[in-house]
Amino acid sequence: MKLPLTDLRIQYDSIKGEIDTAIKEVLASCDFVLGKQLQLLEEDIARYFNVKYAVGVASGTDALVLSLAALGIASPDEVISTPFTFIATAEAVSRVGAKPVFADIRLDTYNLDPEEAGKRITSKTKAIIPVHLYGMPCDMDKIMALAKAHKLSVIEDCAQSFGAAYKGRKTGTFGECGILSFFPGKILGCFGDGGMVITNNAELAKKLTALRNHGSTVKYYYALHGFNSRLDTLQAAILRVKLRHADEWIKKRGEAAVTYNRCLKDLEIGLPPASSGENFTHAFNYYTIRVKQKRDLLQKRLKEEGIATAIYYPLSLHLQEVYKGLGYKKGVFPLAEQCQEEVLSLPMYPELSGAQIEAVCAVVRQALA
Ligand SMILES: *Cc1c(COP(=O)(O)O)cnc(C)c1O
Repeated sequence: MKLPLTDLRIQYDSIKGEIDTAIKEVLASCDFVLGKQLQLLEEDIARYFNVKYAVGVASGTDALVLSLAALGIASPDEVISTPFTFIATAEAVSRVGAKPVFADIRLDTYNLDPEEAGKRITSKTKAIIPVHLYGMPCDMDKIMALAKAHKLSVIEDCAQSFGAAYKGRKTGTFGECGILSFFPGKILGCFGDGGMVITNNAELAKKLTALRNHGSTVKYYYALHGFNSRLDTLQAAILRVKLRHADEWIKKRGEAAVTYNRCLKDLEIGLPPASSGENFTHAFNYYTIRVKQKRDLLQKRLKEEGIATAIYYPLSLHLQEVYKGLGYKKGVFPLAEQCQEEVLSLPMYPELSGAQIEAVCAVVRQALA
């Protein structure tokens, strides 16, 4: 058996005709930067999320950096987020000169615990970045209530939650803005780097549109210190094709998760939330289990069988060398630290068959016996 964590090849092959045509059209137009297909993708994405504005940028990381910059967040402001996420979430905060402040997560969702976040608010706190990790929505009622009570901006990190919903409403549409990543391994991935910010705030959209293009709204006139951070027209054309299939793919991810949960439910491991509950729809960018003690052994056994896995993430951000200066000690966020030792993500992509999932689960069962 040979199973990757995510299979980009199968997906490309399944829509090769549509993709190749879209690419050829951009090549023929030579409309490479801020082209027509980008504008159309921004309209498509805004419609998909039912928001007023979508601004394409060069990556999910840049979507975070530009959002923070557009909100005027800088030194000595503080921004609260989870330590159990990809580095980009905190890196963006540091990049604009502000200070990342971490708070522990909840074990049932792997997401920022709103109560813990509340304890970290100071007079310097300006924003909170909930990350819908693995595709599981955060408790947005509690996060929005906290933000409202303390007048904080909310930037939702939806890099892993494209298409996920909380109480029937898509993640990314609750806060001041939501950020998307189109990195190839994400739920809606392009063929390189790409990202987007979605928002209902006209002022913010206008600022983001200027910031991504050197701070300019009128060519060669500059009102802001900007960035060169545009989503390529070619990537936009590819994403427009893929967006047409996204809901079907997300549904299949959910079905794969249901099969995994069914096959693994009698084992002594932590399973992710069901694919949809009363309050949420999980988008399953990753299917992640928790295994006490035997995690590394299980990963080794799966590898021997040709099954790829990943650890998202092996070291929480508050313990990373780059954040030594923030002064966090081991033990401050026990749940994030527990997860870093226990999590293991298994193969997850829409085309994964029931038989393949059962084969993965059989190896898991054997290894843990
Ligand atoms: C992937 C990711 C990002 C960054 O996205 P890029 O497009 O790779 O820059 C940010 N936050 C989270 C949680 C991610 O998983």
